[in-house]
Amino acid sequence: MSEAASPNPFVLSEVEARETSDAPAARPSTALTTNGGGVAGVREASAGVFEFSLAAGAFTATQPDGEIQTNASLADFIWFRTGGAAELLFRPRSVDALAAFLKELPRWVPVMAVGVGSNLIVRDGGVPGVVVRLPKACAKVAIEPGNRIRAGAAAMGITVASAARDAGIAGLEFLRGIPGTVGGAVRMNAGAYGRDVSDLLIEATLVTRAGAVETWPAALFGYSYRHSELPEGAVVVEALFQGRPGDKAAIAAEMDRIATEREASQPLRSKTGGSTFKNPGGHKAWALIDAAGCRGLRIGDAQVSEKHCNFLLNLGGATSADIEALGEEVRRRVRARSGVTLEWEIQRVGERS
Ligand SMILES: Cc1cc2nc3c(=O)[nH]c(=O)nc-3n(C[C@H](O)[C@H](O)[C@H](O)COP(=O)(O)OP(=O)(O)OC[C@H]3O[C@@H](n4cnc5c(N)ncnc54)[C@H](O)[C@@H]3O)c2cc1C
Repeated sequence: MSEAASPNPFVLSEVEARETSDAPAARPSTALTTNGGGVAGVREASAGVFEFSLAAGAFTATQPDGEIQTNASLADFIWFRTGGAAELLFRPRSVDALAAFLKELPRWVPVMAVGVGSNLIVRDGGVPGVVVRLPKACAKVAIEPGNRIRAGAAAMGITVASAARDAGIAGLEFLRGIPGTVGGAVRMNAGAYGRDVSDLLIEATLVTRAGAVETWPAALFGYSYRHSELPEGAVVVEALFQGRPGDKAAIAAEMDRIATEREASQPLRSKTGGSTFKNPGGHKAWALIDAAGCRGLRIGDAQVSEKHCNFLLNLGGATSADIEALGEEVRRRVRARSGVTLEWEIQRVGERS
């Protein structure tokens, strides 16, 4: 299959991205989907009390407010379209519903947030514990005085960049090219064209693994290149960004330039996870990969992109194991050729099967 042949639904148009901000219904309830194909289960044990069983044990909790799915496919929506299921996928109705659920959740249950999976390899054995996917209610974007933008963590980067442009706020244009959520960007310190989230972030609100809702100033995130020190199990729910006054037409032109440049240089319509490896100090990862002869290299249906060789592709039938093995082979060849050890940028989560 060619790199251009698989339109990826997560390359949102501006209009589609805006539609993700629709307000949800406010009625508290649990929508339960129990999928087979795994050991996880959930049932209403008594009025208002749910009993959950996971591979590592069972627990009860007050009825969660939102959607719960057992053995939920993540491959349905993450960019690579590979990998195993989440034992429990929780889509809380609100930040308060998330906090209440995490507060009661026994500490032995691992928790992981997911955005749209544009930087994820979910291993084929699936993700133990709870995966949190924020609802549309957490995708609102609002302009605040002083050229500031407040964005729910489920909002897409393009939505934030577009809102900033419409308000004449410059400095957020690079988010136009990052096809993930605000939560993923805050966690990853996403960036491009010499700017990253740490240059913009004033503060972010998160729900800790213990269920506390806390607002952290940017300095607490310990940012460095594509890295934050967000604590394990914490879910970012909102971010406040600082821009500067700008000319709408100039901002729009810069966003268009970014979109065109990305279309020309990246396999945007493929099943991919973005840049696979961080650029090592003084080097470009793609150039090291190219020099090591890895452009187009394949393991099964996993391939190093011909278009941008720091991108790995699922040509259709790859497993996450194929993709990860290909990444490790690239690392091995680059180390042998140039002596540089590439560090994964893509987050690899879950268990091998
Ligand atoms: C075509 C393409 C181009 C890309 N270009 C760039 C680029 O130029 N620059 C760049 O930096 N990245 C780029 N990426 C990678 C990716 O888009 C970014 O890392 C993005 O910020 C990830 O957002 P996401 O919502 O998809 O996160 P996911 O991939 O779902 O998750 C990534 C990590 O963030 C965590 N996470 C997600 N949401 C939350 C949350 N609410 N709270 C806490 N943790 C959370 C996850 O647990 C995981 O560890 C690109 C990817 C693709 C596919």
